[in-house]
Amino acid sequence: MENLYETTVERYRNYVMPTYAPKILFTRGQGTRLWDADNREYLDFASGISVCNLGHCNPRVTEAIREQAGKLVHVSNLYMNEMMPRLAEKLITSGMDGVVFFCNSGAEANEGMSKFARKYGNATGRNEIISMDNSFHGRTLATLAETGRAKYRKGFEPEVPGFKQVPFNNFAALEAAVSANTCAILLEPVQGEGGILPADAEYLKKVRALCDEKDILLLFDEVQCGMGRIGTRFAWQSFGVEPDALSMAKAIANGLPMGAFIVKRKYADVLKVGMHASTFGGTPLVSAAALAVQQAFDEDGVLENCRIQGDYLRAKLVEIGKPYSFVKTVRGMGLMIGVVLDREAATLAGILLKHNLVVLTAGETVLRLLPPLTITRADADEALEKIAAGLAELDRMIREEQK
Ligand SMILES: *Cc1c(COP(=O)(O)O)cnc(C)c1O
Repeated sequence: MENLYETTVERYRNYVMPTYAPKILFTRGQGTRLWDADNREYLDFASGISVCNLGHCNPRVTEAIREQAGKLVHVSNLYMNEMMPRLAEKLITSGMDGVVFFCNSGAEANEGMSKFARKYGNATGRNEIISMDNSFHGRTLATLAETGRAKYRKGFEPEVPGFKQVPFNNFAALEAAVSANTCAILLEPVQGEGGILPADAEYLKKVRALCDEKDILLLFDEVQCGMGRIGTRFAWQSFGVEPDALSMAKAIANGLPMGAFIVKRKYADVLKVGMHASTFGGTPLVSAAALAVQQAFDEDGVLENCRIQGDYLRAKLVEIGKPYSFVKTVRGMGLMIGVVLDREAATLAGILLKHNLVVLTAGETVLRLLPPLTITRADADEALEKIAAGLAELDRMIREEQK
């Protein structure tokens, strides 16, 4: 009989470009649970990477996909469809007033938002976009240039010009970097890949004021921290600082590929007919799924649950980390949580996976937890138990090494 795991590994080895190195084969998901090819059950504290924020195969989303799949999957944006403007209306009436462009991924959303900023800036002879050290904005050529991690750019020179980085949460450094050529400042309200690092609210307020003073666009990359992850639908709502434009993707359709960026209404005419496009952007099937996600935010208490479980988890993590000197701090907002270690976090992540807890790392030393926003107290307690066991195991390993 064919062993599914072995044959899948073989197919990856022979036919899939090796840009990832996956080890586990998941075959099924439901809610906060995943099952591998051997039917081993895992508790998912990654949600993809903050993608399946409502849990796997959320009934609302699954039903919306089923219904729309039997009706109309795709029409070109040369024609109208009913679902995409419904979704745009929902996103706008739930946040800041403006207009939406739909695409298919985070990188594309940031790419489009950057084109918007350049189009706006070029009208007054400015084209430089300033972003942050340790930021992550995507893997296309332009989003690489705005990503504050030189190692991702290495080998892909020449770099797309017009971007530079400054230290995050450092207003003086940002102010010094702004020039007569600056058209936009781009940042993640909570840095994700960089290590689950929230912006200081005071810093954001100063950046907002600087942008207002100099007619610079403030762009938020909410691809990871938006869509409920930190306890509000949009990340900026947690800080009380409105950007001029924001990008999102990951969780917007709970697993179906979608990206989008919103620009404030006063910038609604910057990109006109023919200036930007996407074949699949806002296709009816994906828009229907995304509408179901918004409905869950409205009707299922998802955001409130995120705040409650997030506060609980972070407080408990501080407690269980206390006995270990290698646990430096616990940080984050809502259910976007980083456990900062004094060493590589990958070792702990590996241990936790053996305890059937799926987690992520961020930067080199941060254990990153991004559970579904729908986790129960029991899910949280189960994860905490596994993490406590994992920390004890890592502690034993460190002691062994020191002998
Ligand atoms: C994941 C991510 C992106 C890139 O999204 P893709 O869909 O992989 O292109 C951009 N910005 C942030 C903050 C992200 O977390």
